[in-house]
Amino acid sequence: MTDEWPHHRTARANLEFIRAHGKDAWLSAQRKEWSCPSCGSDIMWYQRQCSCGRGLDAWELPARGASRSHD
Ligand SMILES: [Zn+2]
Repeated sequence: MTDEWPHHRTARANLEFIRAHGKDAWLSAQRKEWSCPSCGSDIMWYQRQCSCGRGLDAWELPARGASRSHD
């Protein structure tokens, strides 16, 4: 949870949400958060544009590591 990847930092908050509200509520919230608001397609953490063309509020790739593991 302490490395440079933003999606790793959500682990604790996700577990706390599941403990408080249950896994079904978490799955429902995740499905909503990670679907394109325009077309409903699945979107990913660092995706800047949906296949439908809508711009997305993506997380920033870490400067280090990004070029090594994702280019
Ligand atoms: Zn879309």
